[in-house]
Amino acid sequence: MEIKTFGVVGAGQMGNGIAQVAAASGLMVIMSDISADLLNAGLATIEKNLGRGVKKGTISEETGKSIVARIRTTTTLADMAEADYVVEAAVEKQELKFAIFQELDQACPPPVILATNTSSIPIGRIGAQTSRPDKVIGMHFMNPVPVMKLVEIIRGLATSRETFDITWKLTIEFGKTPAEANDYPGFIANRILMPMINEAVFALYHGVGTKEDIDTVMKLGMNHPMGPLALADLIGLDTCLAIMETLHDGFKDSKYRPCPLLRKYVETGWLGRKSGRGFYKYS
Ligand code: NAD
Repeated sequence: MEIKTFGVVGAGQMGNGIAQVAAASGLMVIMSDISADLLNAGLATIEKNLGRGVKKGTISEETGKSIVARIRTTTTLADMAEADYVVEAAVEKQELKFAIFQELDQACPPPVILATNTSSIPIGRIGAQTSRPDKVIGMHFMNPVPVMKLVEIIRGLATSRETFDITWKLTIEFGKTPAEANDYPGFIANRILMPMINEAVFALYHGVGTKEDIDTVMKLGMNHPMGPLALADLIGLDTCLAIMETLHDGFKDSKYRPCPLLRKYVETGWLGRKSGRGFYKYS
């Protein structure tokens, strides 16, 4: 099946980045969210990113405009019926993803692959919500999507070879580098990254160092481009907490317990960059 129209569910920081990358590869894109305001905010981010590329001279103004023109928006999930491949990038909540996949399964023709950008929820569990578990796969982009090269492709137990091959090829057409992971909580990226971030929050909680010192140690001492607390703010503290909960729940191992300070920040609504405040303040 030729992929001409690409569906993206969710216009948040990951969804709008995925829509941009898919449109830049020449595909028509349908991007959905739950309100026109959220869709407009997603489109505005894409325009800002492309505008930066025009200023830097990496793309022409015409190319930037044609990428935006290929993206259509909707608040009706059933409009994904027109897509030949769909990736879901809604918030990291299992029940929400289950409901979205049930609806996509009803709306989309049987050959359509339904991928998820989930950071940690088992692909098999999401696939079991549909009548096509062989066509459900993890397509895990990194943040910020237009910049980061990696896409982790996660095959559930029921995912078919064909679904995997199509997704692998599409990733390369997007200009990204795929890596294959099996369906265990956190896959590869977050199995390793998130306990490190959680440990950095514990170090702050125990007063081992200030947030600046913790980040400086990891940046200058370990050559990480960003400190773990600044990275947590970029990812979103709600997303970090959700991933830790999935690791903890999936492995039943106390080494994955989320730091109480992380939970407190999320409960207070300090979610990182997207809410203006996390471990750091953003204007
Ligand atoms: P976000 O909060 O920025 O965006 C999520 C969007 O989903 C919001 O705009 C929300 O309104 C929308 N949404 C909620 N319900 C919806 C529905 N029923 N239909 C359509 N849209 C709906 O979150 P994000 O950081 O973009 O994360 C999205 C997904 O990507 C999560 O599963 C997350 O774990 C994963 N992810 C995040 C990162 C990261 O660094 N933030 C990296 C890789 C993967």
